[in-house]
Amino acid sequence: MIYYSLNGKAPNVGLEEAVVRGIAPDKGLYFPEEIKPLPSSFFENIESLSNNEIAFEAIKQFVEGVIPDEDLKDIIEDVLSFDFPVVEIEENIGTLELFHGPTMAFKDVGARFMARCLGYFSAQNIKQEPVTVLVATSGDTGGAVARGFLNVEGVDVVILYPTGKVSDIQEKQLTTLGANITALEVDGVFDDCQAMVKTAFLDDEITSKRKLTSANSINIARWIPQLFYFLFAYKQAKSKGKELVFSVPSGNFGNICAGMVAHKLGMPVKHFVASVNSNDIVPEFLKTGVYKPKPSVATISNAMDVGDPSNFIRIQKLFNNDLEALSKKLSSFSYTDQETKEAMQHIYKETGYIADPHGAVGYLGLKDYLNRHPDAYGIFLETAHPVKFLPVVNEVIDAEISIPSQIEQVMHKEKQAIAIKNYDQFKAFLLK
Ligand SMILES: *Cc1c(COP(=O)(O)O)cnc(C)c1O
Repeated sequence: MIYYSLNGKAPNVGLEEAVVRGIAPDKGLYFPEEIKPLPSSFFENIESLSNNEIAFEAIKQFVEGVIPDEDLKDIIEDVLSFDFPVVEIEENIGTLELFHGPTMAFKDVGARFMARCLGYFSAQNIKQEPVTVLVATSGDTGGAVARGFLNVEGVDVVILYPTGKVSDIQEKQLTTLGANITALEVDGVFDDCQAMVKTAFLDDEITSKRKLTSANSINIARWIPQLFYFLFAYKQAKSKGKELVFSVPSGNFGNICAGMVAHKLGMPVKHFVASVNSNDIVPEFLKTGVYKPKPSVATISNAMDVGDPSNFIRIQKLFNNDLEALSKKLSSFSYTDQETKEAMQHIYKETGYIADPHGAVGYLGLKDYLNRHPDAYGIFLETAHPVKFLPVVNEVIDAEISIPSQIEQVMHKEKQAIAIKNYDQFKAFLLK
């Protein structure tokens, strides 16, 4: 598969270069040159396939020519070693639980897949230089990336997180791994961490010594595997005999864009709903046709606090930048924190299900759509386990939440982090 830059001013590349670079030299996002639909028999017989078989068939074309089938199968088996259940909570509404991975965040799959790809390249000497993955995190991404890359040959991971601004659980997930993972505790806020990472990428003194890459959803190896989720949900919900609607709690719009790639592969979907918090750039765009990024505002669904969603340009590309065509397949609705809390309470009271704030935003968007299209079967994605957002969940819902074993295990481990006060200290660390 060939990947090209959506800015159109950089050379085309193969998978390995797209993954190692993360972003094209012209700052554009990489995009597959062609997306070939799967045969209709694949969707007709999907119930008879295992998750691993589904994933293999779906992603094969994207790694073609670089990762041979047998190695791809091994990678997939390793990445997908947990469940992705659709849990029905109301008539015609199911939640696709994406939090059964090692860090209980849906980013586990993408992070693990990207890590295995880099590990594979390194083992094959396709890229001989060791790679350093730099990640700035406000909480959830860092843990999934750290865990996904743990002990991967040829890859070092450096995570920057703002001191005192991540939850106890999240901090433990970032700082207790050791080996090739280093946590830097930054005296500042998330924006300071992000600014340091961006500066490092442009710092020749550093980049001449270390090969740097990023592990957010602009990286195709983190973005594309997310299409598996939608196929797994389709497999489970197909027997309902209704058209499917997906509501995806969205921030950088990587997850929903991957869902739309699954649709492009031929998966029947009636409609997608991008459910967002008060960061309403996309709902405004669909209403007005004007894409206007804004500084992000803080909300209780903070993994979606994004004021300029990077993957939205990929969604537009999937529809050849045709707003009318896009609007037929995609709606987007925005909800306040108050509405989100009320939804969490409503879901718990009516169904006994405990949704995290991100899932609750997804539920609200799904309800709004289904109210006008009652014949469909709706699935909202639950992107994090409620225990990851315990302070809000405890405030809103009067229920005991038991701590899952994945979380319990890290809580007893000792934190190891290097305190960083400014860019110079960060740079000195990287040059050491
Ligand atoms: C990252 C994240 C999202 C948003 O996903 P995007 O692909 O950035 O739209 C939603 N919920 C949780 C819990 C997340 O960590």
